[in-house]
Amino acid sequence: MTVDEPRVGQARAGPLQRLAKAVLLCAGLAIVAVTVWQLPVMDGPRTLWALARMPIPTASIVPVQGVAAGAIAPTFGASRSGNRRHHGIDIFAKRGTPVRSATRGVVLSVRDSGIGGKQVWVIGPASERHYYAHLDAWAPGLERGDVLEAGQLLGQVGDTGNARGTPPHLHYSVYGDGGALDPLPRLRAGTSNPASSPVSTDPPTR
Ligand SMILES: [Zn+2]
Repeated sequence: MTVDEPRVGQARAGPLQRLAKAVLLCAGLAIVAVTVWQLPVMDGPRTLWALARMPIPTASIVPVQGVAAGAIAPTFGASRSGNRRHHGIDIFAKRGTPVRSATRGVVLSVRDSGIGGKQVWVIGPASERHYYAHLDAWAPGLERGDVLEAGQLLGQVGDTGNARGTPPHLHYSVYGDGGALDPLPRLRAGTSNPASSPVSTDPPTR
């Protein structure tokens, strides 16, 4: 029995051959990585990567269909029970009114818990986290990892969580690196909600 005897004609690999093998291996791995990155299942991670490189939005659409930004009360920072501050804005509308993503994004979480009730968390441009709460129901099939365009359906306005029994509304928060920020200025700057109509605050004239 012969073990580990070099065969005749099998030259030992030189440094150049070893380098060539290493380069080929790296190229192969790179091709695999690029191929995997392009797979549909990688839509979420790829979009997250792109979103993280986007600037903080200065304008976005009102996430409740048919509501004009001018009709939303500026209640960000207002006092709430239990020594809490209001970390968002409330957008009132009839129960069942469509709630739509204010921005492009990736769904981080779809859940029913705590004071927010039925809620959706979305990672948006500049990796900000968008919180949509008190929903009556979620859009069918919506789940973590879904890639969303601005205006895409998330669910319907309701009164779940600690809003139970109050007029149905969407609680909408945006969290950036510095914590919660007031989303209302960017909604007022946004003009791309085709479903919104201006609400006059003038008294009726005869
Ligand atoms: Zn609220």
